[in-house]
Amino acid sequence: MATAEQKPAEAQDEQQQQQQNGEVDAAAEATEGLGFDAPEASYNLELSQDQKDIREWAHGFAEQTVRPAAHEWDEKEEFPWPVVQEAAKIGLYGFESIAQFWADPSGLTFPIVNEELFWGDAGIGMSIFGTTLAVAGIYGSGTPEQMVEWVPQCFGTEDDVKVGAFCASEPDAGSDVSGYRTTAKYEEAKDEWTINGQKAWATNGGIANVHVVIASVDRELGSRGHAAFVIPPGTKGLEQGSKVQKHGIRASHTADVHLDDCTVPGSCLLGGKEKLDERLAKAREGQSAKGQAAMRTFELSRPTVGAQAVGIARAAYEYALDYAKEREAFGRKIIENQAIAFALADMKMEIDASRLLVHRAAWMGKTGKEFDAAEGSMSKLKAGEVAVWVTERAIQILGGNGYSREFPVERMHRDAKIWTIFEGTSEIQRLVISRAISGVHIQ
Ligand SMILES: Cc1cc2nc3c(=O)[nH]c(=O)nc-3n(C[C@H](O)[C@H](O)[C@H](O)COP(=O)(O)OP(=O)(O)OC[C@H]3O[C@@H](n4cnc5c(N)ncnc54)[C@H](O)[C@@H]3O)c2cc1C
Repeated sequence: MATAEQKPAEAQDEQQQQQQNGEVDAAAEATEGLGFDAPEASYNLELSQDQKDIREWAHGFAEQTVRPAAHEWDEKEEFPWPVVQEAAKIGLYGFESIAQFWADPSGLTFPIVNEELFWGDAGIGMSIFGTTLAVAGIYGSGTPEQMVEWVPQCFGTEDDVKVGAFCASEPDAGSDVSGYRTTAKYEEAKDEWTINGQKAWATNGGIANVHVVIASVDRELGSRGHAAFVIPPGTKGLEQGSKVQKHGIRASHTADVHLDDCTVPGSCLLGGKEKLDERLAKAREGQSAKGQAAMRTFELSRPTVGAQAVGIARAAYEYALDYAKEREAFGRKIIENQAIAFALADMKMEIDASRLLVHRAAWMGKTGKEFDAAEGSMSKLKAGEVAVWVTERAIQILGGNGYSREFPVERMHRDAKIWTIFEGTSEIQRLVISRAISGVHIQ
């Protein structure tokens, strides 16, 4: 058996000797048909050169532009327009780049870019990629013509950067989407929809160029009576409500949105009236029309949200690892204590496990595999909980410094917590997974 210390020539000699002894032939015979001799691996964890290049490029922006700005914008609790403008200048923020990331047939490029950006900072990361929630809303329900019209307007241009907002949650209905009270009424003579209600917690709410709003067109049908509308820039009747003062991701803008007789043309109904009428008719007959499609849309977006959490966790882990190698107590580096070193080992393992779940789900989504066990939810659930746990461990490793605002792990921990709440709370993810694996309608 060749060892790691043996030189290649020595190993070759040993192989020849084994062949003469018939050992290799016997091994080859025993493994014949098991695929060990297959010329190409059918399972591959290697990223493509393109993916590696994009990762490096996104990392460079996160390291040089995002991270140095993180503390300032967190303290100011203001939307970091200059950083988003920088992202637009280098082509990281914009319609074309997002289209390019999404076009990757493996599905991994967008999660990879998200991990790097949120490694830089989560509040700024959300300010840059919060727009993709609106884009996903348009993509999920809109016609190709509507996508072409509205998606670029969510981003604006390099010289005139805009953002988009997705407004679904309401003050009395977050997890329970069937409880939305915002209504949309159609006036056939004018081909117009009038929307009334209040949306809560909208990322970019009120500062967005394009708002995508979920409203009920038939409250008796619960979530099956919902429709998605684009509210064009400058539409009367849409106003920002209170801006939310938050625990974390404080650079990201979060606000209530009031819709008061907000009237939009019929063309703003995503998917169009004919499709909506068909869907409502099916729902009234008791048929499940879109349930699976909605579930699939969520499963598709969750790996990307999970990748953001992986980025935060990795940032805190790396900071804590470097710190532990420098900090001394009792005359030795603190990493020389198993209590610290083992914690770091567990942090690294959990982060890598989360990333594998994220990449699996992203790949499944892009290649059209069925999410039989709600693998998208699994990836977001695991990564969100790992981000909270890892950032808390990082504070512990930094001791008193970890608790100080002068050190970034405190901010990272505050930021991480939202990943167990938005885009479906951890409890809701467990509900989705348990229903998927059991086929039972778990309450
Ligand atoms: C910073 C931030 C940004 C956000 N951005 C957006 C956005 O851009 N657009 C948008 O539409 N929304 C957004 N949200 C809203 C977010 O999606 C909701 O807060 C989230 O879905 C939870 O809803 P809720 O707050 O109403 O909690 P609730 O639904 O009231 O839940 C409260 C608790 O009860 C638990 N619970 C509820 N039902 C069940 C159940 N059946 N079984 C077990 N446990 C249950 C929940 O898990 C949670 O722990 C954002 C929120 C925040 C804080």
